[in-house]
Amino acid sequence: MFDSHFHTTDPRLISLPEVVAGSNHGVEIGADFESLPAVFEYAREHEHIYCTAGVHPEYADTYSANDFEHYVVENLHEPKFVAIGECGLDYHRDDLPSREQQIRAFEHQIYMADRYKKPLVVHSRDAWDDTAKVLIANRSKLKHGVLIHCMSYTAEQAQYLMARLAGIDVYFAFGGHITYPSKSYLHDTMRAIPLNRILIETDAPYLAPVPKRGEINKPQYIQYTAETMARVLGKTPAEIETLTANNAYQFYKIKAAR
Ligand SMILES: [Zn+2]
Repeated sequence: MFDSHFHTTDPRLISLPEVVAGSNHGVEIGADFESLPAVFEYAREHEHIYCTAGVHPEYADTYSANDFEHYVVENLHEPKFVAIGECGLDYHRDDLPSREQQIRAFEHQIYMADRYKKPLVVHSRDAWDDTAKVLIANRSKLKHGVLIHCMSYTAEQAQYLMARLAGIDVYFAFGGHITYPSKSYLHDTMRAIPLNRILIETDAPYLAPVPKRGEINKPQYIQYTAETMARVLGKTPAEIETLTANNAYQFYKIKAAR
């Protein structure tokens, strides 16, 4: 499997020997500025692991455009560095940075993706209207592609975004949440997305799929998500593995390790 989004360097995961031993191929996602060196180091040390640089909306109140740009420029030579993000908007809780702060950090990272010719990994939770608004307003800066990770919106919302971003390569990644009964509407969302635009992810250590729901999510648990995706899309798990890996290579522009 090629896991398009995980956080193995999270302290909850990195200490577990079976996680490192069982790590499959995929992308270690940078989500807070302080941890970026560890994220890049992890990708450098593991042959089939790639990395991104981003600041999650949770940290938007301390986002420094200068510091972030400096880090990206310093690391542009790194061949494992495949995308900007995760970045975006999260209105799920009241104690998160203000919407203004989140939008400012998001828009700057969109600018960075364009400026340094990288695809963009977007996090969006309970913030559909503003996410769509910001992406559509900045569509000229998305020519290297955009991925809505942990896609949690409806089929109509996915179709709306694809239509408004026609001409842009828009991808959607699905994780353990597609196995949750309360999220079964996501099965329609998956069916509404072209097969060459669907990625799979764990988002480990978050969002463990049923039957591991509530545990710390591990790379190995991606099989449960693949089984659900296969059933919904009328494919075999092996076909899902090939399809989602090829889509991830396309989005992240990964040429090696095929
Ligand atoms: Zn993440």
